[in-house]
Amino acid sequence: MSAHTGRLLLRTQDPFLLPEQALLTARLSEAGLLGTPLEGGNHAFAVGERFLQLVTFAGCSVRIELSPVGDAPFCHIRFTGPFQWPVFLSGRNTRPPRCRNCRSPLRNWKETAPAWDKAAPTSVTCPSCGEASPPWDYDWKEKAGFGRLFIQIEEIFPGEATPTPELMALLSGSSGCEWRHFYIQDG
Ligand SMILES: [Zn+2]
Repeated sequence: MSAHTGRLLLRTQDPFLLPEQALLTARLSEAGLLGTPLEGGNHAFAVGERFLQLVTFAGCSVRIELSPVGDAPFCHIRFTGPFQWPVFLSGRNTRPPRCRNCRSPLRNWKETAPAWDKAAPTSVTCPSCGEASPPWDYDWKEKAGFGRLFIQIEEIFPGEATPTPELMALLSGSSGCEWRHFYIQDG
């Protein structure tokens, strides 16, 4: 099996917020980000007719497959969640996050991370400056993220595509909160 290319994920800036998924789905469908629901349901959608206006691809040629051809990966959008509390998503591309206070990397994040997916995760003390802060306050450089509802766009190599300001405004207008994006590669 070939390695997972990656995905672009959208999350709320405040990891505790839980936007209403039905309303978001309706607005994102109207705006042309989401296309037809995919077989099997599971809150997965083909990309909509304005997908390429709402997500900007770097480079001159967009090589993404927009519809299924055999078993090859193709671009689609899926909701993950809702979760009862903020969950932590990371991947093989995740690097030690930096302390917001002193910018030192938190090298042991992998050992600490299993304790984060619960109702009230303990704060993480920076080994360099001693500042204690919740894990989502560390700077993950768009390589990991916390949230209760995620919108995942498969398959996107990290940094290959970014949400446009129009899409970010659409998300905040449909949910009443600010959003951020990040990238995950499985495996
Ligand atoms: Zn620090």
